[in-house]
Amino acid sequence: MGLEWLRGPTARIGLCFLLVSGLLSSGPAHAAPQPLLAFAARIAGDSARTRIVLDFEEKPEFSIHYIAGPDRVVVDLPATAFGFPADQLAPRGLFKDIRYGTMGEDSARMVLTAIKPVKLVLAETQANENGGYRLVLDAEMTTSEEFAGLVKSQSWAAETPAVAQTVPLEDGSKDNVFVVAVDAGHGGIDAGATASVSKTAEKVITLGFAKLLMGKLNALPGVRAFLTRDDDTFLSLSERVAIARQKHADLFISLHADTLSQKDIRGATVYTLSDKASDRMAENLAARENLSDETAGFTMQSGPPEVADILLDLARRETQAFSIALADNVVKSFEGQVGLINNPHRQAGFQVLRAPDIPSVLLELGFLSNPEDEKLLMDDAWRSKIADLVTGAVDRYRARSLANGG
Ligand SMILES: [Zn+2]
Repeated sequence: MGLEWLRGPTARIGLCFLLVSGLLSSGPAHAAPQPLLAFAARIAGDSARTRIVLDFEEKPEFSIHYIAGPDRVVVDLPATAFGFPADQLAPRGLFKDIRYGTMGEDSARMVLTAIKPVKLVLAETQANENGGYRLVLDAEMTTSEEFAGLVKSQSWAAETPAVAQTVPLEDGSKDNVFVVAVDAGHGGIDAGATASVSKTAEKVITLGFAKLLMGKLNALPGVRAFLTRDDDTFLSLSERVAIARQKHADLFISLHADTLSQKDIRGATVYTLSDKASDRMAENLAARENLSDETAGFTMQSGPPEVADILLDLARRETQAFSIALADNVVKSFEGQVGLINNPHRQAGFQVLRAPDIPSVLLELGFLSNPEDEKLLMDDAWRSKIADLVTGAVDRYRARSLANGG
């Protein structure tokens, strides 16, 4: 019944959405619209049929997409403030994971990860008596064949993360300025890990620290630091790398504070890229970090295509050597000052560290699964000390690379 209705209009809305977001994102002078408020939500049902309802003050335009592997329903919305408690949309019934949040300044998204193939038999806005609107989504289990058909039939081009077109290319006049990209991990719909005591989201901690670090780096003469994101926006992993390359970064530092199942493990870790992980913990962590794009409803990309280019290969190897040098500098500056885990320089296949020409490290400031680390991560004095130590390490690294004619 509702399915026929759903296919026509949503395909059109989806196309509209793409056109509109494409137009809006090209103009940097464009003012961010006031977000819609979703002030309440509820979920009911079982593993055969599940209903999700969101209450809005104003009528939301929306579009629906399906993505396979894992099977997901994506609901694209205009800029939306999700003002209801998280437990109102706790996963149940057909959905084992429900995420929602900002995608860009004009858009928000919900990603519903299903336990088995699903289809929406109803997706519509209904007017409430009090003047508000309900967005009602009714999902039913379906066959794998029908789900595959839904994925195939939609005219949706935004399945893989777009490379940031919104970032203007800087002009070539960067002279002798040493440019550092400071990357606050996670953001928007991808909240990252959750602190065990305060329930603070990793994305909040990484952004706070990134701003602090940027300020300290910018106080160094001859250094210019910038943030890949400066608000609660989602960036795909490839966008983060693209932004750093477009701004001619000489270094890329990605900041994280993840959780581990072993709650007693604490301390900072510095990661560099390697296709072969140094250990199981590093491998698991990279696998989880690399899920960021999937969390936001993108299809996973299986690494960059291998280019049989000896120059690129040489560049990669040189970049790798610089990444390791930076990691060693950071570890040295932390020693005796900050708690480090055993073997604090580790390696794994983090997608966000894959710029072939920018030395890149991923810094786990500490683990939000450990209450002692959490206390430190929330402490201004500790954060300031860490930011000073990282700044010192960057400065020494830069002095060394200048001396070597880099
Ligand atoms: Zn993280």
